[in-house]
Amino acid sequence: MAASLNCGAAGSIESRVDSLLNLMTLEEKVGQLSQYTGAGYAPYMVSAIKEAKVGSILNEVDPATINKLQKDAVENTRLGIPLVFARDVIHGFKTIFPIPLGQAATWNPQLVEKGSALTAREAASAGVRWTFSPMVDIARDGRWGRIAEGYGEDPVLTGAMGVAAVKGYQGDDLSKPGTMAACVKHFACYGAAEGGRDYNTTWIPMELLHDVYLPPFEAAAKAGAATFMCSFNDINGLPSSGNSYLMRDILRDKWGWRGLMVSDWNSITEMINHGYCEDKRDAALKGALAGVDMDMEGHSYDANLADLVREGLVSEEVLDEMVRNVLRLKFRLGLFENPYVDMSTANTFYTPEALESARQTVEESAILLKNNGILPLQGKKRIFVTGPMADAQHDQNGTWCFDLEKSRTITPLVSLKEKYGKAVSYEPGLTYSRDKTSDFSKALAAAAKSDVILYFAGEEAVLSGEAHSRADLTLPGAQKEYLQALAATGVPVVTIVMAGRPLAIPDVCGLSSGVIYLFHPGTMGGPAIANLLGGEANPGGKLPVCLPVMSGQEPLYYARKNTSRPTEQVVVMDEIPLEAGQTSTGCTTMYLDAGLEPLYPFGYGMSYTDFTISEPRLSATEMAADGSITVSCDITNTGGKAGSEVAQLYVRDLVASLSRPLKEMKAFEKVTLQPGQTQTVAFTLPASALAFHNSRGESIVEPGRFLLWVDNSSACKTNPIEFIVK
Ligand code: BGC
Repeated sequence: MAASLNCGAAGSIESRVDSLLNLMTLEEKVGQLSQYTGAGYAPYMVSAIKEAKVGSILNEVDPATINKLQKDAVENTRLGIPLVFARDVIHGFKTIFPIPLGQAATWNPQLVEKGSALTAREAASAGVRWTFSPMVDIARDGRWGRIAEGYGEDPVLTGAMGVAAVKGYQGDDLSKPGTMAACVKHFACYGAAEGGRDYNTTWIPMELLHDVYLPPFEAAAKAGAATFMCSFNDINGLPSSGNSYLMRDILRDKWGWRGLMVSDWNSITEMINHGYCEDKRDAALKGALAGVDMDMEGHSYDANLADLVREGLVSEEVLDEMVRNVLRLKFRLGLFENPYVDMSTANTFYTPEALESARQTVEESAILLKNNGILPLQGKKRIFVTGPMADAQHDQNGTWCFDLEKSRTITPLVSLKEKYGKAVSYEPGLTYSRDKTSDFSKALAAAAKSDVILYFAGEEAVLSGEAHSRADLTLPGAQKEYLQALAATGVPVVTIVMAGRPLAIPDVCGLSSGVIYLFHPGTMGGPAIANLLGGEANPGGKLPVCLPVMSGQEPLYYARKNTSRPTEQVVVMDEIPLEAGQTSTGCTTMYLDAGLEPLYPFGYGMSYTDFTISEPRLSATEMAADGSITVSCDITNTGGKAGSEVAQLYVRDLVASLSRPLKEMKAFEKVTLQPGQTQTVAFTLPASALAFHNSRGESIVEPGRFLLWVDNSSACKTNPIEFIVK
C-alpha cells in the first residue's frame, strides 16, 4: 500500500520515476495510460481505480469527489499512484477571460500570462491540475468554429501567446499550489481543416508545416509545456494520432521535448473512422508506436496494450517510456506529496485580482475599427442600448465555459445602467443573435428618442467552438436588417460586436458611426465596455486575424504570396459594362465582388489617441547568414489621451528559391504612452528568423534582398527599408 510514496522520495524526479516503474506490473503500467471521463463517485469508476486501471480523470471538478477518488487511488491500490485530474479550462475556470482569440487581440503576452496564472489558481483550488490549453493551432479560416480557441493566423503572435499561457498556468514550479500543467494542442495542423469544416482533412506540404504550423508548438515546447495533445485530423492522409514524424522525429528528437502526449478525445480509436486502422487493437498499436502516451476516453489502450506488449508488437522500452512520461508529470505536480485538494482553500473563485485582470484583458482586447468622432461618448444625454448581445449573460462568455456560473457575468446593459443611470433606455430589438424578428417598431420608437444608439451585435456562444463551424460569416438572424432600421432613425449608431470569430461586416461598418470589435469577452465584458465607451479606458486591441469583406474570401490571411498576377487595381463588379470582354477587367488575382484585401487587416486597431512610428533605424543594412541586426524606432503618442500602440516588424524576402509571402511578421511590441510621450522600441532580428523550409523540412537562410517595415498593422502603409543577407 502506498509504496510509491517512499519510492526514492529524496532523489531526482527521474530516479523516482525509474524506481516506481521497476515496481510496476504490465497491467499497472497500462493502467497509467488510460484517461477516463468523470462520472462522480460512480461504482464502475471506483472499481476501475482500485484495480489500478486509471491514470487520469478528466471532467471531475468537485473537490470533495476528487478527494474521494484520489483516496481510492492512493490508499486502495498496491502502489498508491495518485490520479491527475484534468479539465478544459480554456479561458478561465469561473472568472471567464476573453476567448483566446480575444486574448491574442491584446498583443500583450504579460497580461495573458497573468490571466492564465489566475485561472490556474481558481481551477487548482477545485482540484484541477491539468488543463487542455493553450490551443496554438494557426487558423486562417474564420469559418472554422475553433478559431475562437486559438490566437489567430500568425505564427509569431500565436507562439508568443502560447508561451505566455504555458508560463502562466505552470508558474516556475509545477509542484507549487495553484499551478496546472498546460497542454499544448492540437498537434498538428488541426486549424487547416479544409473549408473550415471541423475535423476535416488537411493537406499540408512540408514547407508550410514547418514555416507556419509548427513554430508555435516549438515555442511552447521549449517554454516547458508539460503536456501536448495530438489532433483529430489527418495530414496528407496520415491521422495525427498515428503520426510518428510529428510526435517522435520532430517533437521529441528534434526539439528535445520530454513531456506527456495525450490523445484527443477518442482520437486513437477514431483512426478506425479515418480508414487507417482495422480495429481498436490496430489503433492502440499505431497510437503507441507513433508516440501517444495516454488514451483519452478511447479505451483502446486498456483493452489491448498489455497483449500487444506480450506479443512483442509494442516493445517494453516503448511502453516504459510512455509510463515514464505519465509518472514524471505526477511527480512534477507534487501529487505524490500532496495528492488531495486542500478543503480549507477549496473553490476560491472570483478574487478581486482575477476580476480586475479579466476586465483589463477585455479593455486591451477591444479593437476600435471605426470612429468618426462619436467615441468616447461625450455629452450624450439619452443613450439607447439595444441588440441581442447587450444583456446576454451566457453568450458573452463564448465557447468552452464548462464551469460558467452565468449569474456572475456582468453584461454591458448592467454596467451602462450603473454608470449612466436614467439616461439609459433599453429594448433588445432582437433577443438572441439568430432571432429573425422583423417587427422592430417598439425598439425603433425608443431609439428615435435617443441621442446615441449602442447596438450590441454578434454571435451567440454556441455559434463557434468545436464542431460549430459556419459557412456564412455575416451577422446571423435579422441583425443587419435591424441595424439598417436603427440607422434610418438618423440617430448615430455605435456598434459593439461580440463574436467568436472574424465576421464579414462591411455593412455594419458602413452604417455605424463607431465600431468596436470584441471577441467574446467573458465575465467582465460589461464593466470593460462601459469604460471603453465612456473613455475611462482606451481600446488597446489589434486584430489577430484579418476581417473579411465577404465569407467567400476565406481562407484569408495577410501573409499571402504575390502570385504571378498581383492586383494593383481592384475591379468593382457592379461597374463592369454589359457584354464586357473577358479581358476587360484585367487578368489578376482577386474576386470580382470582394476584391483582394480584407475589410480590416491583421494587426489593425485604432485608439482614442494618435501615434506616430518613426522610420526604422537598422544597425546595419547587411547581415551575415548567421548574424543579426537591430531594428529600432520611436513611437510617439501625438494625441491627447494615454493609450497603447503595437509596433509590428514585417519583412519580405524579395527573391528566393521558393516564393515567399508578401509580408511576414517577425516581432512585435506593445507600448503604453502618455500624451506627448515617446518610447524607443528595439528589436533584434537574427538571420535565422528569415529562414524558411524546403520540401524536406530543412531550414535554410538564403542570401539576398529583403524589405522591412515597422508599422501598426500588416497593411504597412510606410515605405520599406531594404537590407541584405550575405
Ligand atoms: C477537443 C479537445 C479537448 C477534449 C477534452 C476534444 O473534443 O478536441 O480540445 O481538450 O475534447 O474535452
